[in-house]
Amino acid sequence: MTDCLFCKIVNNQIPAEKTFEDKNFLAFKDIHPKAPTHILVIPKKHITSLADMHPGDAPLIGQLMHRVALIAEQVGIAEKGYKVVLNIREHGGQVIPHIHVHLLGGKALHWEV
Ligand code: AMP
Ligand code: ZN
Repeated sequence: MTDCLFCKIVNNQIPAEKTFEDKNFLAFKDIHPKAPTHILVIPKKHITSLADMHPGDAPLIGQLMHRVALIAEQVGIAEKGYKVVLNIREHGGQVIPHIHVHLLGGKALHWEV
């Protein structure tokens, strides 16, 4: 999507501090980190939110979650543990309409809604 911020990061039109990239996925540091480690993991395919995925996207989203676990290992937060957050639409607090997984860790994190 041409006017999507995260598609622009995928297409290198906007810089980001990348932690992982392959054919289907990209991970980069959140610009306003809410934990010592705060990484966003996205599919390169533009899917607006979890609520907008099609049944055919299920394998890709499954792989996305596996990739999140692998990145947690890669950045050294897996042993202690971490939190994974998906914000969806207005009440979920989603600001960027391109599905992204927040990977948060590096300290004990509490549950706030
Ligand atoms: P959400 O509220 O789930 O849509 O989260 C969007 C996240 O994207 C926020 O945590 C922002 O800090 C982050 N963000 C916005 N712009 C950028 C950017 N250019 N590079 C990295 N992270 C960003
Ligand atoms: Zn997009």
